[in-house]
Amino acid sequence: MIRFYNTLSGKVEPFVPLEPGIVKLYTCGPTVYDFSHIGNWRAYVFEDLLKRFLLFSGIKVSHVMNITDVDDKTINGAHAKGISLEEYTRPFIEAFEKDRDTLGILPADHYPRATGHIREMVDIIKLLLEKGFAYRKDGSIYFAIDKFPAYGRLAKIHLEDLRPGSRGDADEYEKENVHDFALWKAPKEGEPVWETEIGPGRPGWHVECSAMSSKYLGRTFDIHCGGVDNIFPHHENEIAQSEAANGVKFVNYWLHCHHLVVDGEKMAKSKGNFYTLRDVLDRGYDPREVRFLLLSTHYRKMLNFTFDALEQARAGRNRIRDFSFDLRDVKRDGPANPEVTQLIETARAGLIAGLEDDLNISESLAALFGLIKSANRLLAQGSASRADAGNLADFVAMIDENILGINPTDVPLRVDPAKMRSTVSDVAIKVESSGDLDLEIQKRIDARQKARAEKNFKMADEIRKELLDSGILLEDTKDGVRWKKVGPART
Ligand code: AMP
Ligand code: ZN
Repeated sequence: MIRFYNTLSGKVEPFVPLEPGIVKLYTCGPTVYDFSHIGNWRAYVFEDLLKRFLLFSGIKVSHVMNITDVDDKTINGAHAKGISLEEYTRPFIEAFEKDRDTLGILPADHYPRATGHIREMVDIIKLLLEKGFAYRKDGSIYFAIDKFPAYGRLAKIHLEDLRPGSRGDADEYEKENVHDFALWKAPKEGEPVWETEIGPGRPGWHVECSAMSSKYLGRTFDIHCGGVDNIFPHHENEIAQSEAANGVKFVNYWLHCHHLVVDGEKMAKSKGNFYTLRDVLDRGYDPREVRFLLLSTHYRKMLNFTFDALEQARAGRNRIRDFSFDLRDVKRDGPANPEVTQLIETARAGLIAGLEDDLNISESLAALFGLIKSANRLLAQGSASRADAGNLADFVAMIDENILGINPTDVPLRVDPAKMRSTVSDVAIKVESSGDLDLEIQKRIDARQKARAEKNFKMADEIRKELLDSGILLEDTKDGVRWKKVGPART
């Protein structure tokens, strides 16, 4: 039985999806104001392990990861450079996708962008206003946390101890400053503005994830992940907005990974103590060694990043690699040795038991390294045949392809990671409005922007015309490209 530690209950619980055999998973994605650092990659690799294990267990997974392309940080970044949000965030989105594939992370089924989902956010805010959970102040709209009695349950804070009463506009703040938070921010000089039914302005960060998760996964879904820094205020606020607006439970299981730290401090862009994946690869490490490092510490333990630790990860991966290569040299004919067969079965059981126990990767890796040690002994004694070697190699390859993803034999990947869509697309992702259309349009807009950046204006014009022919008018504004439906062009 699979069990996970649920931050909401503070306990390890049996995992029971809403619908048998299907899991709806939402993971908070990158805020694209800079390159993702390896602390971020720790979170994404943990989520990848979770997803791979669910898939390995025969469960279908619908996975959505948002891209935060409008918030305080992206706006400040774009403003400082004097370019549009879209121009500013595009290279970071592209780098994110490239690094994700380099690290062998299975792509999500959807990567909705905040800027493409303003309408859905407005719908939630309208509901919150109607139901009395939100109020207007100086052109902004705030969530009144004292109207939502369960506020604080996830982060285990007690409002009465903190005497909240203030209000704040910043997307991020500490538990000590708990306050009413902005759902919608009034127009400000230098900030993008959307003209909407609730007035002009732009969304707060938290409402973005409430809107995008429910759009693609439904109002209640199974698992929501992120790093522990997301618990407060981000996830606490997501729960408040979603449950107050929809009147149903938002998420059943909240899984958070602990931080990757450097010298005891959280690796963070704002602290300047960060390495991007490129920084590490430039020092001669293989990306799958980085993946192994990020993967091999249990996700709820702090991971102290050092180059020594990376060396150890390299050594661990090399042990698996040497073993895989040694197996190719076994030449002895003969039947399979029952002892080897038994070793494989014990390792399989140990690996699975570890992962079922709240993704206890240490136990799983101990089972794998135990197998390698015992099998090496049999190989040295000449008690293993070519058939045994084949069975061992198949087992290691199977575990690697399904779970570890560290490609120990450096074979060119048989499957293009971009095509390894985790999920079997028959898992119904019920898009409640025209989400797929939005995504398609966004893809065409991106292609046009790329063409323009490459000075391929002919192609850019063609894409614009093609969209217009299907009733979508593009408008280039100082804050990026907007689109609106105008009905199919008349010919
Ligand atoms: P951000 O781009 O800052 O919104 O973060 C994206 C994801 O990375 C979120 O799930 C964060 O919780 C996670 N994250 C950020 N910093 C770290 C860190 N040092 N260690 C682990 N996860 C992190
Ligand atoms: Zn989020």
